[in-house]
Amino acid sequence: MTYDVTLIPGDGIGPEVMGAARRALEATGVRFNWQVEEAGAAVLEREGTPLPERVIDAIRRTGLAFKGPVTTPVGTGFRSVNVALRKALDLYAAVRPARSYPGTSARFGHVDIVVVRENTEDVYAGVEFGYQDERTRELIDWINHHGYANVREDVGISIKLISRFGTERVVRYAFDYARRNARRKVTAVHKANIMKSSDGLFLAIAREIAEQYGDIQFDDMIVDNLCAQLVQHPEMFDVLVLPNLYGDIVSDLCAGLTGGLGIAPGANIGTAAAMFEPVHGSAPNIAGLGVANPTAAILSGVLMLRHIGEHDAAGRLEQAVVDVLRDGEVRTADLPHGMETRVVGTQEFTDAVITCLGGPGGSA
Ligand code: NAD
Repeated sequence: MTYDVTLIPGDGIGPEVMGAARRALEATGVRFNWQVEEAGAAVLEREGTPLPERVIDAIRRTGLAFKGPVTTPVGTGFRSVNVALRKALDLYAAVRPARSYPGTSARFGHVDIVVVRENTEDVYAGVEFGYQDERTRELIDWINHHGYANVREDVGISIKLISRFGTERVVRYAFDYARRNARRKVTAVHKANIMKSSDGLFLAIAREIAEQYGDIQFDDMIVDNLCAQLVQHPEMFDVLVLPNLYGDIVSDLCAGLTGGLGIAPGANIGTAAAMFEPVHGSAPNIAGLGVANPTAAILSGVLMLRHIGEHDAAGRLEQAVVDVLRDGEVRTADLPHGMETRVVGTQEFTDAVITCLGGPGGSA
């Protein structure tokens, strides 16, 4: 079978790391029909928008996108390409595995956590009441009049929205992910003791759904306690499912525990499409030098392989990355390296991964 994938190389180091990851993915023996679409700075210059409609249409057609980082234009009035894609394709779950790999600056040796973040609701839903707006004054009057609180006049307000629909689909995704990937436990993270209406609903629905997955353990934890436990006992955790804001913060915390954003892969999952991309940005400071670390891009490819059910290829490619990192003969400049390590560029590091890879493209 050949998989149609929309490939967005992105800009800055995007084309370098995505080209490398594409080679590594092809070396697994899985066949891809790459449909290349441009988005980002160069397109903005040519066409006046960093995200032409045809890119979104292409992803809708293939249902799969493999995307490089895209520079967010500053001061042009365009919103971020990532936010626009997330909205247009309703990519409701952001999935970020945090696993400690050898040869990186991971703080702990045994972290293997998957963060599933709700991606569309919470305080990011965009219901904003600006400081000293007329509508804000009306809202404050209404709240005070109905006795909910005694709100001061000098406030800005961002409303937190958590729905049954949004929670059900993300929690269900977390449990299905756990089942598909032989994970043992899902932990729902919240602050339901304080925000009873929003986080309380999130927790109640998570509990309801957990009952339908008797084969997966379930527990819940208040977000502040979770943060303390994560930095002391990260091995306690397996799959975490969180509302948008906590998910944003906790996924970076987990990336920090496991060696930083430079090696962290990511996925954005929707009902009609899924998009896989490294967590890091376009790194303009090293763009074009051929020194960028392709690990995050390759591991994003591993997530895509798992998503399409190519578990054997995913396991082999991830293991090849682990082997190269553990072996320590070659490393990219951003990773810790000693006297025995040869510092190599993007392509040579990728060659080492491909050499380690069992199967048609590798020699192991
Ligand atoms: P960045 O991640 O691009 O860079 C931060 C630091 O990490 C830099 O020193 C960079 O050299 C280094 N780095 C990043 N990836 C690396 C890699 N693969 N190998 C080696 N070193 C690497 O973050 P930034 O500088 O804040 O952002 C640059 C641009 O990227 C901005 O326009 C930002 O909006 C955009 N961005 C895009 C995405 C995305 O498209 N998903 C994500 C984050 C940032």
